[in-house]
Amino acid sequence: MPAPRSVLVTGGNRGIGLAVARAFAAAGDKVAVTHRGSDVPEGLLGVRADVTDTASVDAAFAEVEAAHGPVEVLVANAGITRDQLLMRMTDDEFAAVLDANLTGAFRCARRASKGMIRLKRGRIVFVSSVVGLSGGAGQVNYAASKAGLVGMARSIARELGGRGITANVVAPGFIETDMTAVLGDDVRAKALAGIPANRFGAVDDIAAAVRFLAGEDAGYVNGAVLPVDGGMGMGH
Ligand code: NDP
Repeated sequence: MPAPRSVLVTGGNRGIGLAVARAFAAAGDKVAVTHRGSDVPEGLLGVRADVTDTASVDAAFAEVEAAHGPVEVLVANAGITRDQLLMRMTDDEFAAVLDANLTGAFRCARRASKGMIRLKRGRIVFVSSVVGLSGGAGQVNYAASKAGLVGMARSIARELGGRGITANVVAPGFIETDMTAVLGDDVRAKALAGIPANRFGAVDDIAAAVRFLAGEDAGYVNGAVLPVDGGMGMGH
């Protein structure tokens, strides 16, 4: 059994992040999740953090380090949507999504890198989206933020790959969570028609991929984008 690692999952209080956190905890790791005031299930260390606020991110890392040691696995999962047609999208709608999804991931990766460089090992997994590669009508802000994560991961891979640190991307397709529950039946039916697996994804599908990229077996996988989308985005 490998030694337990200090794992931090942003937005791990619900949805995909919670499933990821539970999967690491079930494997014996010491797992912390960020939340913005909600309850956190037993067995996980909840730390309050808003990824749009650098001081809040830094304080959360300090709390995790004090309890579990330096973060060895960072899963940058927190994310939002503010869908709108291009011609109607406000500066605020664009900026808010970029700030949470892209700059937020940057703030966390930057803070995590300090401890990982000292440890001479680390795993960063960014939760992107099929939409970051294929684009999505009404999602100019979201797609741009998710595509940005690919460039970020690959830059980190080049910068820190020689120090035992990997940075990879998981690109989920349509996963059943609060984020997709708000979509109308017409949108869901259209999405389903484009998924060769003929089903929506489950949060555990994503957790398995994240755990793989964070695990021993993926030591030579760096700067990769792993689609977990039932074939929805093939070719992108
Ligand atoms: P949910 O909407 O269910 O959960 C989003 C999580 O992100 C929540 O924990 C939320 O915290 C957190 N969060 C949002 N903004 C911030 C912030 N500023 N600071 C800290 N935490 C924040 O989403 P999912 O679980 O569906 O999505 C998780 C990730 O997966 C996202 O990055 C999403 O873009 C991506 N994804 C999801 C897909 C899907 O089909 N569901 C498909 C492709 C990608 P709080 O509870 O406080 O709001």
